Amino acid sequence: MVVVGVAVAAGLVATATFYTTHQERSVLAQNERTMRKLTESVIEGLQSVMLAGSADIAQGYADRLKRVPEIDDFRVLRITGVEAFRDNSTIEEVNERRGEETFLPRESEQVVRILDENDEALRKVLETRQIVTVYGVDESGEQTLTFLSPILNQDPCHKCHGSARPVRGVLKLTTSLAQVQRDILQARHDSLLVLALALMGTMLLTGYMMGRSVVKPIEQVTKAMSRASTGDLNYDVPISSGDELGRMAQSFNVMTSELRTTYDGLRREQDKLTTIIRSAGEGIVLTDGEGRVVLVNPAAERLLGKSADRIVADGLEGILDNPEQMRDWLASSDAQGPETVAFGDRVLQVFASTIHASEGHVVGSAALLRDVTEEKRLEEELRRLSTTDGLTGLFNRRHLDATLETEWHRALRTHEPLSVLMFDVDHFKKFNDTHGHDQGDRVLQTVARLFHDGLRRHDVACRYGGEEFLGILPGTPSGGALAVAERIRQAIEGAEVDGLKVTISIGVACVPEMAAGSPQELIELADGALYVAKRNGRNQVRLAEGKADEAAGQ
Ligand code: GH3
Ligand code: MG
Ligand code: MG
Repeated sequence: MVVVGVAVAAGLVATATFYTTHQERSVLAQNERTMRKLTESVIEGLQSVMLAGSADIAQGYADRLKRVPEIDDFRVLRITGVEAFRDNSTIEEVNERRGEETFLPRESEQVVRILDENDEALRKVLETRQIVTVYGVDESGEQTLTFLSPILNQDPCHKCHGSARPVRGVLKLTTSLAQVQRDILQARHDSLLVLALALMGTMLLTGYMMGRSVVKPIEQVTKAMSRASTGDLNYDVPISSGDELGRMAQSFNVMTSELRTTYDGLRREQDKLTTIIRSAGEGIVLTDGEGRVVLVNPAAERLLGKSADRIVADGLEGILDNPEQMRDWLASSDAQGPETVAFGDRVLQVFASTIHASEGHVVGSAALLRDVTEEKRLEEELRRLSTTDGLTGLFNRRHLDATLETEWHRALRTHEPLSVLMFDVDHFKKFNDTHGHDQGDRVLQTVARLFHDGLRRHDVACRYGGEEFLGILPGTPSGGALAVAERIRQAIEGAEVDGLKVTISIGVACVPEMAAGSPQELIELADGALYVAKRNGRNQVRLAEGKADEAAGQ
């Protein structure tokens, strides 16, 4: 805009300068023409008077012309540059030439030199016999225009002045250019005023045009951009031209339209995601980058037994009983596997993680809660079923093996004794045959209960198979084990099931008293003692043979 303004201003100044200069020149030329005409007519008048032989009248005529306001000075000069009509030399010369006293001499004479005899302009007039103009400055500093016009020596003049010289004299007429200068100044002033007005008009028009064609479209795009930056994409910039600004507005509209489409797509996806999250069976609690809870789904409210408002108020760290623990989970850099915690009467699986953006900064955190109460119960039940015997409720063979293995190693580590007792129901085949298998089962259940009750809390009662049972007695030497076995034997011997009775035979083995190199060998020792008890008449307890020192001695 500045460049356009400066260019227009320069053009206007140049035009105005050219115009005023031209105006000045034509004013001066016009003035010169007028004054030249005046000079010519003055010469004609003067010549007529002179030809009539009235030199005095010519003198008076010349003196009166000086009083004309436009004429600064008017002189009639001789070709020597001296003012005519001031002395008697011409009168005498004319009288002499004519031989008569035609003209009376002046009473007072004066020699008034106006121009130097060698004055350049004077010489030029005499040589060219044409009017010569001279621009100069008078005593008061004002510009003047002087006309030097030759007074030609024509035929009628010869009778008085002879024909020797082609030019009789020179007429000098000086006019002041003050008025002309004032006119020029006024013209300049007017031009400047017009120029200033034109400049102002041009600038205003340029500004208006720029405003319409540049500033307004830019403002519209800027406004649209700032609206878009606050998320308002429903605003199209009006396209008012096909230039760069128009194309910019069009590109902007295409961009906002694309963004709108993308944004709508994202919003649809977000709606879908929110619906999934809200309807999910798992509880979900999400926070933003500042840790404020921003989403709580109904499942989370149900699992935590708190309203969404309460969860928001407590914050993510406060959703469970132990905020410290939640802080640790969230702080750990790697995504942690689900943690299982008891919360109220539920068991919850919690997956807590801090969410990082691809650039690394935290954008929020999330907790996924899953109710695993029923799962855990079923798991527990399964574990129990997998380790217990269905008929008697005692531990089964699998649990026995695992427990004995554990206790075996503990005994090795602690050097504490470990005993096992093994018993078998006497003549049970016959019992079954006599009373039926169901009756046999009921007897086995009673035997199992008495066996379980006869052991101490840390002892483990297992059904070894069929009607054989095995007890693991950690920290128990053979003496203690024999006593326990005897007590159980008596309890079973004394018990009745539907009026029926059974007896058992028990074998006891113990490490480190006996030489067993493995849990299996310990069982075999007990089994061996049981065999001996059977062989010796049943319904009795036998300690395994083969002391450790004896074995070592063999
Ligand atoms: P012994 O005194 O020598 O032990 O004689 P026994 O008849 O008991 O002989 P054995 O131990 O070899 O016989 C085992 C019998 O126990 C066979 C089977 O009928 C019975 N039995 C095994 N398991 C069960 C069970 O779960 N229920 C019932 N009712 N009987 C069983
Ligand atoms: Mg048996
Ligand atoms: Mg038996």
